[in-house]
Amino acid sequence: MIPVTKPFLPPIEEYDVFVKQIWKRQWLTNNGPLVNELELKLKEHLNLPHLLFVTNGTIAIQLAIKALGLKGEIITTPFSYVATTSSIVWEGCKPVFVDIDKNTLNIDPLAIESAITPSTSAILATHCFGNPCDIDAIQIIAEKHGLKVIYDAAHCFGTKYKGKSVFEYGDVSTTSFHATKLYHTIEGGAVFTKDSSVLERIAYMRNFGHSGPVSFNCVGINGKNSEFHAAMGLANLKSVGNIIKKRKELSRIYDACLPKEFMRPSLQKNTDYNYSYYPVIIESEEKLLVLIEILNRNEIFPRRYFYPTLNKLPYIGKVEMPVSEDISKRIICLPLYFDLTEEEVHLICRTVNRA
Ligand SMILES: *Cc1c(COP(=O)(O)O)cnc(C)c1O
Repeated sequence: MIPVTKPFLPPIEEYDVFVKQIWKRQWLTNNGPLVNELELKLKEHLNLPHLLFVTNGTIAIQLAIKALGLKGEIITTPFSYVATTSSIVWEGCKPVFVDIDKNTLNIDPLAIESAITPSTSAILATHCFGNPCDIDAIQIIAEKHGLKVIYDAAHCFGTKYKGKSVFEYGDVSTTSFHATKLYHTIEGGAVFTKDSSVLERIAYMRNFGHSGPVSFNCVGINGKNSEFHAAMGLANLKSVGNIIKKRKELSRIYDACLPKEFMRPSLQKNTDYNYSYYPVIIESEEKLLVLIEILNRNEIFPRRYFYPTLNKLPYIGKVEMPVSEDISKRIICLPLYFDLTEEEVHLICRTVNRA
């Protein structure tokens, strides 16, 4: 069976080195030494000044919204994972959807301005499949209207825009280190911001608001992560270069061997891509369903991602997002993961071509 993704597991000895340290110290959680070490190593690896390791990518978005003090309406994309929208609603704000650009699959900056009202406080956009949004255009709009920008960069580990980690952009960027992501800590996530006062607030907020053993700075939540998760992150960090290299090679085979009629999202200019997914857009939903059926019969399991669009969530007022809905019906992500072999990608391509 070939699934759409498989979590990467490091050589067990590499994980074990860190686990032995945990046993020796008997320090399991609460921002321990391995969490600190992971934060340091991630900063070095990504060449970034600031980040905080948190429980998961969803808490990361919620902490960003809370720490920026956002209220009212937040402009966002309907073409993302549910956590992007649910976090806005969970934080008591209203998601206002703006449709995507049909080529990049990211929020369409040209459509943002007409969705701005006196209640708009921010733009929360996803760099879909690791492909950066039109960051420059969004920045200009945000500055003109005094809005904050949060990027859900859950797909972006290793992506660079204009030579810098894409996590550097926006007032706050967030990412996920979930087991299904290119780089993972089993469960986990991170928050990135250049604003030291926002970073400080998030640091308090992820630890119940504690400013000392018996004192509190603000309302907080439990957004910490454990030594075991940090251990997995430290072990996996050694392999991340190889992971991206392998995904790139497999993506190149797909590029060469898939039918030429398949459409692919177009990459933002000035981007070093991380090859986190291999989405293809098919002519019609009918053909897509036939293709999935044939692939499944051959034990190949692509995923409809993202489907359905987030404007269709049951707790969202009815709005239509024609571009997103159209793309969402016709897009699948093909299998792409470290353990996938070149032979398997050739097999998938042959099966697709026969279909
Ligand atoms: C995975 C993902 C999240 C959520 O991250 P978790 O770590 O699973 O909470 C949020 N947004 C996007 C776009 C994602 O793909």
